[in-house]
Amino acid sequence: RKFVYDFEEGNRDLKDLLGGKGANLAEMTNLGLPVPPGFTITTDACRAFLDTGDVPGQREISEHLAALEQKMGRRLGDSEDPLLVSVRSGAKFSMPGMMETVLNVGLTDASVAGLAAQAGGDERFAWDSYRRLIQMFGKTVCDVPGAEFEHALDDVKRRAGTREDVGLQAEHLRELVGDYKRIFREHTGRDFPQDPREQLDLAIGAVFRSWNADRAVLYRRQERIPSNLGTAVNVVAMVFGNLGADSGTGVAFTRDPATGERGVYGDYLANAQGEDVVAGIRNTVPLQDLEQRDKASYDELMSIMATLEEHYKDLCDIEFTIERGKLWMLQTRVGKRTAAAAFVIATHLVDEGVIDLDEAVQRVTGAQLAQLMFPTFDLGGAPEQLTRGVGASPGAAVGKAVFDAQHAVAMAKEGEAVILVRRETNPDDLPGMIAAQGILTSRGGKTSHAAVVARGMGKTCVCGADELDVNLHKGQFTVDGHVVSEGDVISVDGTTGRVYLGEVPVQPSPVVQYFEGTLDPQADALVAAVHRILTHADERRRLRVRTNADTGADAARARRFGAQGVGLCRTEHMFLGPRRELVERLILAQSDPVKREAALAELLPLQRDDFIELFREMAGLPVTVRLIDPPLHEFLPPLEQLAVKVAVAEERGEDPGHDRDLLDAVRRMHEANPMLGLRGVRLGLVIPGLFAMQVRAIVQAAAAVPDSHPEIMVPLVGAVQELETIRAEAEKIIGEFAVDVKIGTMIEVPRAALTAGDIAQAADFFSFGTNDLTQMGWGFSRDDVEGAFFWRYLELGIFGVSPFESIDRDGVGRLVRIAVDEGRAARPDLHFGVCGEHGGDPDSVHFFHEVGLDYVSCSPFRVPVARLEAGRAAI
Ligand code: ADP
Ligand code: MG
Ligand code: MG
Repeated sequence: RKFVYDFEEGNRDLKDLLGGKGANLAEMTNLGLPVPPGFTITTDACRAFLDTGDVPGQREISEHLAALEQKMGRRLGDSEDPLLVSVRSGAKFSMPGMMETVLNVGLTDASVAGLAAQAGGDERFAWDSYRRLIQMFGKTVCDVPGAEFEHALDDVKRRAGTREDVGLQAEHLRELVGDYKRIFREHTGRDFPQDPREQLDLAIGAVFRSWNADRAVLYRRQERIPSNLGTAVNVVAMVFGNLGADSGTGVAFTRDPATGERGVYGDYLANAQGEDVVAGIRNTVPLQDLEQRDKASYDELMSIMATLEEHYKDLCDIEFTIERGKLWMLQTRVGKRTAAAAFVIATHLVDEGVIDLDEAVQRVTGAQLAQLMFPTFDLGGAPEQLTRGVGASPGAAVGKAVFDAQHAVAMAKEGEAVILVRRETNPDDLPGMIAAQGILTSRGGKTSHAAVVARGMGKTCVCGADELDVNLHKGQFTVDGHVVSEGDVISVDGTTGRVYLGEVPVQPSPVVQYFEGTLDPQADALVAAVHRILTHADERRRLRVRTNADTGADAARARRFGAQGVGLCRTEHMFLGPRRELVERLILAQSDPVKREAALAELLPLQRDDFIELFREMAGLPVTVRLIDPPLHEFLPPLEQLAVKVAVAEERGEDPGHDRDLLDAVRRMHEANPMLGLRGVRLGLVIPGLFAMQVRAIVQAAAAVPDSHPEIMVPLVGAVQELETIRAEAEKIIGEFAVDVKIGTMIEVPRAALTAGDIAQAADFFSFGTNDLTQMGWGFSRDDVEGAFFWRYLELGIFGVSPFESIDRDGVGRLVRIAVDEGRAARPDLHFGVCGEHGGDPDSVHFFHEVGLDYVSCSPFRVPVARLEAGRAAI
């Protein structure tokens, strides 16, 4: 096995092995761009290291290091003329700021003088680089608390009478190195290593180990990145942005990652090393300012960015450093972007002739579309604007200001909506960022940690609101005369960067307005892009998309959103409200056919009118109506409430009458496991006339509404005999009217999936009820397990995502496959759909496409998401 690759040997397709950073450094090297020389130790080596605790390929590392020294004409840590390197993490999937990087490796008490000599006698620079090494090395390799170093730095600044790092002179920094070395010794029980090669080896091990740092583990779980990939390590010859005013470092995007608009976008910081920009330690200047400072480097950078876009055919983000007027490229990748930018960029690239529409559809996701359907603020009430920062990740978030990540987590657990307010965030804030509705920081640009992580999570974020004076200890911020304390409500607009005092009402997003038909698609660049991409997805997809809707209003909205029918109408919703009393009468009349018929006769016209409304809204399209599914006792008052009522009445010497009968019924009907009790088709078989009434209502409504296409769906069938019995009864009623009504069943009991060939004999269609199929497939009672212990299952990696959220392909999915294959074999014209919540889940939609379903059905707001994903699945 080969564990080490020079940059010349790799390329961008080797991300599995070299990580994204290493693969792209290799790609840039081979494009002839100015990348400092270096090599990559593979993810394979990381996996071996995590198994054994030893870094494999030592000999290879030595050889590649020797070659690097040769190329640079310098030896690692040489006292006269040292080569310094950075040791950088870089996994297959970008995990911004989650793992470790150590800069300036190779500096020692001896080589610090050599470095100063290299820099033309710049002692300040040499000591600054050395103190950075001890700080980073101490923190990441030896777990020295970072705050210790920061305190020491603050102390030196105070003694030197300056507030800025750049105000420190060489002697201050030398003093600081002494302090840092002492801190290092106190915490590790040893001296800071003076052997450059030992520094390198320790740093490599630490980077590998950082794959399993808590925050990295948490981030991977959140982003659904597999935990067994490992990171590569890149060893890169150092270039220095901290060599004075003609040096600096920056990050840039080839397009605006927030809006997708054309034009480069970036942040630059003079006289600094790379970490300073990302950490938001000092406020950066816009990249455009570089043009005045150093036109040659700026022009070269622009031309390199054009080369990269042309090469990667997509938005790229880059890290660069200028060392005394010489530009160096330190990183590139296809850049993260907001959901809005993803749509806009994809269509711009089509217009520019770079990609075709098929590719544009692949460049966006249903999850991104879902984000664009979030509501935005309604500013009609002229809310009080506190300040404005950089809109780093869009959305409208309202919540109580909280200044501490742990506190944010605790309050969110209590059900509070919170906004995490920080000066800047760092990876330790991750749990708080996940718990918060939104994030607000006073420092850092669109490329700061807060911005990058929030965008990745689709969480609202405003950063760099530099008018905010954030006081973490007091738990408050002040701005423009206002004091906002922990617990005060603020509203944060991640699109515009505006921050408001109090709760600002929200309104539908432009994309939703477009779906609703109240906004012309050409009125807005983003909406135009969404329109174009969805239209193409519709042309490509094979899956049809229906909606789950119980009312005419829901059906009408879903139709505007593109639904091609109703896949699930839950009739039990038609038994609620004032009609509950009729259900009570039905239940109490169980042994009295006359009373029962009377109650059913009253329910019939009510149901019929509901169906008429639904069928009208969906005229021309199929509407699948599920016969009543839940146990009837769910319609009765709770046991305790009734028992108290009856007891009170008896106490007063009154006759509890009706309540007593109800109480008896509730006691009689009590079930230990209602989910597995008298429900679904079992109700139809046990309670005479109930299903017949519903069928009659459906058929009468169908006869009343022109161009209606009802489909009757029987829930919870496990045996074909169940379905046959109901079917015979229904066909008799249907025969009385001249209407065409299909009869099918849900496949939601495992036995139904396993005997699908038989069940198909009595069904015109199957609709997979994947919620129940998951419950019964896993033996999970959803209500009991999700909150109680699913977190533990996720933590243990038993599944990477809840099987209720995304279909479990191997288990529940296998049941679906069996049912499709055997059902279709038995009856080639059988229709297949899905009506569980999975119908609106992007991953699951791809699965349903693969197994050959005819349609998915989902909630109205998920319809556009399913349309897009069905298109993506078909391309
Ligand atoms: P991350 O993945 O957290 O961005 P990086 O490995 O990219 O970590 O490094 C952190 C910072 O150090 C970046 O700004 C990067 O540009 C800078 N950096 C890394 N290697 C070098 C180097 N050889 N010379 C100068 N700067 C470097
Ligand atoms: Mg980086
Ligand atoms: Mg069900």
